[in-house]
Amino acid sequence: MRIDLHTHSTASDGTQPPAEVIVSAARAGLDVVALTDHDTTAGWLAASVAAQQHGVHLVRGTEFSCRVNGVGVHLLGYCFDPTFQHLREAMDHSRSRRVDRAQQIVHVLAPSTGLTWSDVVIQVQEDGPIGRPHIADALVSLGVVPDREAAFAQYLSERHIAGINSQHRDAATLIRWIRDAGGVSVLAHPRAAREPVIDDEAISGLTEAGLAGIEVQHRDHDLDAQAALAFLAARLDLVATGSSDYHGSGKPNRLGENTTHPDAFAELMSRVGETQTSAQ
Ligand code: AMP
Ligand code: MN
Ligand code: MN
Ligand code: MN
Repeated sequence: MRIDLHTHSTASDGTQPPAEVIVSAARAGLDVVALTDHDTTAGWLAASVAAQQHGVHLVRGTEFSCRVNGVGVHLLGYCFDPTFQHLREAMDHSRSRRVDRAQQIVHVLAPSTGLTWSDVVIQVQEDGPIGRPHIADALVSLGVVPDREAAFAQYLSERHIAGINSQHRDAATLIRWIRDAGGVSVLAHPRAAREPVIDDEAISGLTEAGLAGIEVQHRDHDLDAQAALAFLAARLDLVATGSSDYHGSGKPNRLGENTTHPDAFAELMSRVGETQTSAQ
């Protein structure tokens, strides 16, 4: 069984619509794929229809933007009730913070690049969450840079946008809400070298809030980081996952380039709904 638990569609910053992500997943020989767009569940319906047609098992997920001690982290929530009020509000909050942040970034880049807000807005699907990749795509469309990678290297890295704070929700709070909504959460790429990271102690703190797993095999982790995370997962009784973080043609990440072991997937799914409450 081949299992990839982290992908993006045009519902956030991927380049393929949700149904096409599923078709690509089937072609890549995946049996299980999670659609985990940033701060939205908008792609779930189209993905689930396509998954039925193509014999792929869809795991419904979202990659939530949040923070731990002021450091931005990404949290993968799976199998939660998408109508759960606190999570709806958290996603709405993140999406509106993203608009504020993107406007500030455009303001900073306008003098040197000629970038305007409308150049960026046309890169975003409907009311999908706006992110730096859309600003990157706008810079590509203006001919300022050849591709997203170059846009990040020259204009959009953490270093470039250091003063612009996105004020996302606290990760422990989101982990509790995801559990309350019947789901499970996995910390995404906790040691991705290009962004600031949180230490082992902070990850340990998140397990007390109910974190179920950490993403270990991911292209932004070198082998040392993967070994250290696998060790940490074992110590903290966290499920170790592996995923591609596919973004279509927006990133080099290929579907199934990292996968989750079937036993780890079974363990993760066994933790779904463990503490669901009816309170909202
Ligand atoms: P944001 O959501 O606005 O914080 O932007 C972060 C997103 O940018 C991540 O989810 C990645 O998909 C993407 N990203 C980060 N670094 C790069 C890069 N060097 N090239 C292409 N995409 C990137
Ligand atoms: Mn992304
Ligand atoms: Mn991420
Ligand atoms: Mn991602």
